[in-house]
Amino acid sequence: MAEPVELKVEMIACTAFTPPASVEWSTDAQGAEALVEFAGRACYETFDKPNPRTATNAAYLRHIMEVGHTALLEHASATMYIRGISRSATHELVRHRHFSFSQLSQRFVHAGEQEVIIPDLINEDPQLRELFLRAMDENRFIHNELLHALEEKLAGEPNALLRKKQARQAARSVLPNATESRIVVTGNFRSWRHFIGMRASEHADVEIRQVAVECLSALRLAAPTAFGDFEIETLADGTRMATSPYVTDF
Ligand SMILES: Cc1cc2nc3c(=O)[nH]c(=O)nc-3n(C[C@H](O)[C@H](O)[C@H](O)COP(=O)(O)OP(=O)(O)OC[C@H]3O[C@@H](n4cnc5c(N)ncnc54)[C@H](O)[C@@H]3O)c2cc1C
Repeated sequence: MAEPVELKVEMIACTAFTPPASVEWSTDAQGAEALVEFAGRACYETFDKPNPRTATNAAYLRHIMEVGHTALLEHASATMYIRGISRSATHELVRHRHFSFSQLSQRFVHAGEQEVIIPDLINEDPQLRELFLRAMDENRFIHNELLHALEEKLAGEPNALLRKKQARQAARSVLPNATESRIVVTGNFRSWRHFIGMRASEHADVEIRQVAVECLSALRLAAPTAFGDFEIETLADGTRMATSPYVTDF
């Protein structure tokens, strides 16, 4: 039986920062956001904070965003572990070329149950949900038949691991877009901001939009100023989107 799974986004790493002992400077933030400020001040040697309007870390970072000096944000990075995401949404995600990815292998890992992501529009309608799950079950049946037939066909291959891999890589071609995937994504803050700007937009697909909003929520906890300009809104259909006045260059 196909088993619907929910999206889960967890931040598993975020930049740590060790200020150099040889520089006389301190700030009221830590980690990634302190590093971004340090990198900016290093450009102009303004560790003595000559401009009182940008003396706090938050004011400094907001100024960076206002003037578009966003290259500084590349010094800070964060890693998300995303589960409960469909293969079609990861296909959209991996289009973002500044991220680094490590994705669950369909050639090596054969899930016992078929875990699937049901699009909200289908999930909210009992008839459509039933039709969807039936399609998933029929698909799984055919996939398993194919897999067994392929394993038999490859019975002459003495390397068991290779045999299984060859069978799975051929059989997986019938798996649906809704198949659950898992992926580790690392990006610098500039890339995360670009990704959120594009994918948390109301024009993006609902699932990747949900992924982007969840990533934004996690990033905001770690770096409230660097991602504080994004506003999260709820649309008429109950889904969420986010926009920032500073992320407009698509
Ligand atoms: C609503 C929506 C609909 C979409 N529909 C389609 C579709 O129908 N078909 C389709 O194929 N894709 C589609 N996409 C994907 C889209 O075309 C991009 O591939 C994807 O969003 C990655 O965006 P990007 O290229 O801006 O960013 P990234 O790869 O995240 O790169 C960030 C930025 O870096 C710069 N950059 C990166 N690489 C280069 C380079 N080689 N040369 C110059 N500058 C570079 C650019 O400024 C780019 O904006 C869609 C995306 C959205 C949000």
